[in-house]
Amino acid sequence: MTGQDVGQMLSEYLDERYIHPDQSMAEYTSFRTGGKALCLVEVHTVEELRRVLTCVRKKFLPYVILGNGTNTLVEDEGYNGVVVKLGGDFTKIDVTGYEVTCGGGASFAAAARQAAEMWLTGMEFACGIPGTVGGAVRQNAGAFGGQVSDIVKRVRALTTAGEEIVLRPHELQFGYRNSIFCQRKYVVLDAVFELKKGDKNEINAKIDQFAKERREKQPLDLPNAGCIFKNPKEGFAAKFIEDTGLAGEHIGGAMVSRKHCGFIVNAGTATATDIIDLMNKVRSEVFNTFSVRLEPEITVLGQKKRY
Ligand SMILES: Cc1cc2nc3c(=O)[nH]c(=O)nc-3n(C[C@H](O)[C@H](O)[C@H](O)COP(=O)(O)OP(=O)(O)OC[C@H]3O[C@@H](n4cnc5c(N)ncnc54)[C@H](O)[C@@H]3O)c2cc1C
Repeated sequence: MTGQDVGQMLSEYLDERYIHPDQSMAEYTSFRTGGKALCLVEVHTVEELRRVLTCVRKKFLPYVILGNGTNTLVEDEGYNGVVVKLGGDFTKIDVTGYEVTCGGGASFAAAARQAAEMWLTGMEFACGIPGTVGGAVRQNAGAFGGQVSDIVKRVRALTTAGEEIVLRPHELQFGYRNSIFCQRKYVVLDAVFELKKGDKNEINAKIDQFAKERREKQPLDLPNAGCIFKNPKEGFAAKFIEDTGLAGEHIGGAMVSRKHCGFIVNAGTATATDIIDLMNKVRSEVFNTFSVRLEPEITVLGQKKRY
């Protein structure tokens, strides 16, 4: 099927404004590079999501839920499937009592800021994480000693059978940058975070401190996808990369950041292939030097699976 065919098929369920055949994914991913998706759609309600996924599955088309694309790279040859963005109802954030309820497509950082305005503490770590709540839950995103699993109370999800289920913390299989959503193709519909009452000045001071550390230590001026590798059990990925002498190493327009070796940045002209080739080079050189295996933290979409 062509992108146009898929778009035509999905126009039964969605307004055409929300259907984008052959969409360049550089606009939808923080690396600002990569190929096209067969079709990108935006859904606004659970019902729309269910209908779109049922239709896509019936045609055996690959599909993926995309949040803010801040942990995703699309291969230059593109993704031959349907990319689903969660808009509308999925972007809502509500703070009531000690609970912050957020749609899967809501900004994780915005939710943390709204919680802070209500003097709720526990979510400050999320302020500089640029993804959605769905992406954060899937990855068990974390920073500065905090992570999603510390604050999550329940998650509503859509199963591959189209059933809505509610998962409690013990069912979410959280690990380091890992959750049940990495094993099963469920969609995070919304999540409830439970926080504590805090002191407004202390909360704001923490948020400012974390932002300052990010500005000082991370290459926020160039497109990137955060830490490209998970930390191995032996220590910090960035330290192994730096100690292997790879700071500033580059292939085409992709470069290991000198500021933070855990980041690969797009210095302007990087292709997805440059980034993947550099990831592979870093992995093999770190392995040759320290016998440490680095596993990618990012999701790579495409057919070639060269990483
Ligand atoms: C400058 C910068 C700093 C960063 N700092 C941190 C950090 O401190 N800590 C950290 O953990 N990460 C960090 N990241 C990485 C990234 O922001 C997080 O992993 C974030 O949680 C990804 O969210 P996203 O919406 O962008 O996910 P995407 O990149 O859109 O998707 C990532 C994965 O999640 C899946 N997914 C997305 N939404 C859903 C959903 N609703 N249901 C099911 N699956 C879904 C996708 O299919 C994909 O497999 C950073 C990234 C950048 C660019």
